[in-house]
Amino acid sequence: HPSPVVTVDGPSGAGKGTLSSLLAKSLDWHFLDSGAIYRVLAVATLHHDLPCEDEEAIVPLATGLDVNFVTNDDATRIILEGEDVTDDIRTEDVGAVASKVAALPRVREALLRRQRAFQQEPGLVADGRDMGTVVFPDAAIKIFLTASAEARAQRRYSQLKEKGMDVNIARLLTDIKARDERDTQRSVAPLVPAEDAVVIDSTDLDISQVFEKAMEVVKARL
Ligand code: C5P
Repeated sequence: HPSPVVTVDGPSGAGKGTLSSLLAKSLDWHFLDSGAIYRVLAVATLHHDLPCEDEEAIVPLATGLDVNFVTNDDATRIILEGEDVTDDIRTEDVGAVASKVAALPRVREALLRRQRAFQQEPGLVADGRDMGTVVFPDAAIKIFLTASAEARAQRRYSQLKEKGMDVNIARLLTDIKARDERDTQRSVAPLVPAEDAVVIDSTDLDISQVFEKAMEVVKARL
C-alpha cells in the first residue's frame, strides 16, 4: 500500500499553508508546499532573465531545479543553488511570476515527479492548487479550502504588515483577483475542487476552527 496523502487545495490566502503545516505537525507526516516550488522556479526564471512565457527555456530550468527544503527545529529554509531564498520567494512580485510560469503545461509536467517524490511513510500533507486533481488523484483525503477574496486580501495585508512590509490593501485585492483569474482559467490543472474533495469556507472561521473541521474530515476518512 502506498502511504496516505491528505491534499489541501484552494486559492491563495485561504489559509492553506497554515492549515497544512498544522495538519502535518499533528499527524507527524511529511509536508509538501508545492507553491514554494513554483515560487523557486519563478526566482530562477528571474535570475536567468527569461521572459515568463518562454516555455522552451523554462522547462529545462524546472527539470534541473536545484532546490532543497532544509528543516531545522520546525523551521524550513528553502535553498536554491546553495542560496537561501526562503524570504525572497514570498514577495507579491515573485507570486505573480510563479503564477505565470505555472500556467505553462510542460512546466507543470516537468515538476510532477519531483512533487510525487514527497509521498513517503508515514504520510504526506500536500498543499497547492492541483494536489487532489492532478498530482495525487488517489489521495485518501482531499480538502478544498476557500474564502472570499476580501477576507483573503485582509489576511495577507495583516501578514505583510506584521513583517514590516509596505503594503496597499486595494492593490492586494486586485492582485488576488488577477491571480484567481489566471489560476482558475488556465487550460492545464485549473484551480477547481476535486470531485471527492470536502470544501471548507474559511471566510468567517479562525485558524483553530478551520483546523478542527479539517481534522474531523481526516479522522473520518483515515
Ligand atoms: O500557493 P502559492 O501562493 O505559494 O503559489 C504561488 C503560485 O504558484 C500560485 O499563484 C499558482 O499559480 C501556482 N501554483 C500552482 N499549482 C500549485 C501550487 C502553486 O499552479 N500546486
